[in-house]
Amino acid sequence: MKTIDLSALRVVSAKDVEAAVREGATEVALGPRAVVTPSARDAMRRHGCTVRGDGKASAAGPAPAAASPVHARLFASPEAEAAKAEIVAAGRKLWQRQYVDGNGGNISFRLGENAVLCTPTLVSKADLRPEDLCLVDLDGNQLAGTRARTSEILMHLEIYKAVPEAKAVLHCHPPHATAYAITGRVPPTCVIPEYEVFVGGVALAHYETPGTQAFADAVLPFVRKHNTVLLQNHGIVCWADTVTHAEWYAEVVDTYCWTLMLAAQLGAPITFIPENKAADLLAIKKRLGLPDARLDGGMRECQLCDLPEMAGAIAVPPPSPDGRSCSCGDDTEAIVAAVTDAVMAALQR
Ligand SMILES: [Zn+2]
Repeated sequence: MKTIDLSALRVVSAKDVEAAVREGATEVALGPRAVVTPSARDAMRRHGCTVRGDGKASAAGPAPAAASPVHARLFASPEAEAAKAEIVAAGRKLWQRQYVDGNGGNISFRLGENAVLCTPTLVSKADLRPEDLCLVDLDGNQLAGTRARTSEILMHLEIYKAVPEAKAVLHCHPPHATAYAITGRVPPTCVIPEYEVFVGGVALAHYETPGTQAFADAVLPFVRKHNTVLLQNHGIVCWADTVTHAEWYAEVVDTYCWTLMLAAQLGAPITFIPENKAADLLAIKKRLGLPDARLDGGMRECQLCDLPEMAGAIAVPPPSPDGRSCSCGDDTEAIVAAVTDAVMAALQR
């Protein structure tokens, strides 16, 4: 074994790994705070290069060797072939709806306790074929498949570990939801029923370098109570019981954000679903077994709907059943008044 010392590097790129391998390295030593880029990690995996030290990203495992008979059987099983077909179909939809470009986006499906099917790196979701897919374990080690697995699989795996109900994870860059993510805003709730039931309040995870463990860790605080998380300055991630449903959630959240933007252009206030009707939707959601932070109880009815300053659109508070506006308290009233004043001032400029 020959170890090449890269511990002086703050960021380790694929170029650094390739240079070390050319010098005969079978192991690289990393500094304790080194950031390893996804392509560097893939290069290490490809060359069977191990890591000493603990850079921020997880160490690359050995290069994908031929699959063991057990994994080869699992990878070719009828359940795996059905899941591959579903992933390919979802990938095509993502590309057709312009939710991914270049080789962006990735999709996975939990096939067994420690086996996950996933999309490969560097393949457009429009061109994806079943034979392009990969099988990995929950540590990200590739078990089968000839192409290298996506570098963003770590985020998927953390979701599978944290949420037993998650059978599929899908990550993409839909423009309207991503527009919210780059402004650091989350869309309001209680505006359109389908969004309430299937997605509801999304969370916003702070920005981290894609493909790193820190990127995966950033979504963790939210995934038990949200099936969709906005990734700041990046895109979205959804989990569901099937790949098809995860793709539906991406459609629902992006269309919702788009509709809010169109409404904002009309210059008139949007209206909220009345709070008693919003409670009906939440009850449907509970029956469907879908996660929602508002289902944990302890929330007053008028808190079912988010404050209008989060809307990114002009908003009016939901009316109460008696027709008067929601009496959530002075804070809400004051915020609504301040937002209304600011909007009116802007319109008069
Ligand atoms: Zn991405």
